[in-house]
Amino acid sequence: MNSGNTSYPRPVCGENRRVSPDEALELLTRVPVGDLMRRAYGARAERFPGRVVTYVLDTNPNYTNVCVTGCRFCAFSRPQGHAEAYTLSPRSLAERVRKSYERGATTVLLQGGHHPGLRLSDWLAYVRCIRAACPHIHIHPFSPSEVVFLSKTTGAPVPEILGALYAEGIRTIPGGGAEILCDRVRARIAPEKATAAEWLAVAETAHRMGFRTTATMMFGHVETDEEIIEHLVRLRDLQDRTGGFSSFIPWSFKPGNSPLGKEVCQSAHPLRYVRVLATARLVLDNIDHIQSSWFSESITAGQLGLLAGADDFGGILFEENVLQQAGHQRATTLDTVLTVIRRAGFVPARRDSLYNVIEEHDDAAAGADVLARVLARRTDCTERGR
Ligand code: SF4
Repeated sequence: MNSGNTSYPRPVCGENRRVSPDEALELLTRVPVGDLMRRAYGARAERFPGRVVTYVLDTNPNYTNVCVTGCRFCAFSRPQGHAEAYTLSPRSLAERVRKSYERGATTVLLQGGHHPGLRLSDWLAYVRCIRAACPHIHIHPFSPSEVVFLSKTTGAPVPEILGALYAEGIRTIPGGGAEILCDRVRARIAPEKATAAEWLAVAETAHRMGFRTTATMMFGHVETDEEIIEHLVRLRDLQDRTGGFSSFIPWSFKPGNSPLGKEVCQSAHPLRYVRVLATARLVLDNIDHIQSSWFSESITAGQLGLLAGADDFGGILFEENVLQQAGHQRATTLDTVLTVIRRAGFVPARRDSLYNVIEEHDDAAAGADVLARVLARRTDCTERGR
């Protein structure tokens, strides 16, 4: 494991200095959107010259929808004993992952509700069962808010939980549950969830142990512009200390079917999404990858995001449950994503969970060809391993 404490100074966005919180607020709220996009695209081009936009073949099954946390923005969770409550056994979860794996998924993003009955041994059983069923899949499990909840319910210290996952071969952790890293907002939308400090402490501990994690943000509800900037600056400060964030992934609140949706009826406008994403690229000068979350926004917003500083297009989800429960249905096929990236003027490239490019598709490859190559390579590996 890493000893941590690495400092990652970075030049800033073509201007040789860091964006201050006041300047960040100016970017988010006042700079004309065209200028903002140009500056953010310039910052992306400095870091990643060329036209490559990455994506990953992933699946996102949720091991349980039982949750006692009651976030007001959530349409996915159910109380224990509810007719629609479920908790997958390790074997049934592994079976679901296997179906996606056989279709070409290379990563499983594994998250679930805050279920008070689950223990660390249950988490490890999920990991082991998936690995037995799908030996080559990358397992990307358990967000900081789940880790905080497990620690509180079982009494196991966070380092012990993370250490057990590390010993199990896990090397990346998703950055879910960040919402807005400001306790005024969290008190209004998710008062029972990990505090901002707790979320950041799990990320910092994970980074120092050698994990890479993503960082997320869900905006477009009760937060102020200043609180969005606070969120970004807190991530930047932590990244200065550890260098452990691989990417930043913003998305907007989806009001459908959630209690908060009665108060905030509309999703953020795509232009707001673009402004947030471009500001993030300029403020987060020490995080390499910014993801345009086309799946949660729209194809057009996703494409605009690529012109506003994003270099990654996220996952081709073979399974997704959370946004579906909020009434957000989107068909995702690899062909669609390849076409959407190309039509925005970029070259799609398949990546792994550590953001290494596996193959660029500058040859107009179709989705079926890409999946055939993924599956053939996997067969080769298996045969070589025998
Ligand atoms: S967002 Fe997660 S923690 Fe919050 S209620 Fe939904 S499942 Fe539970």
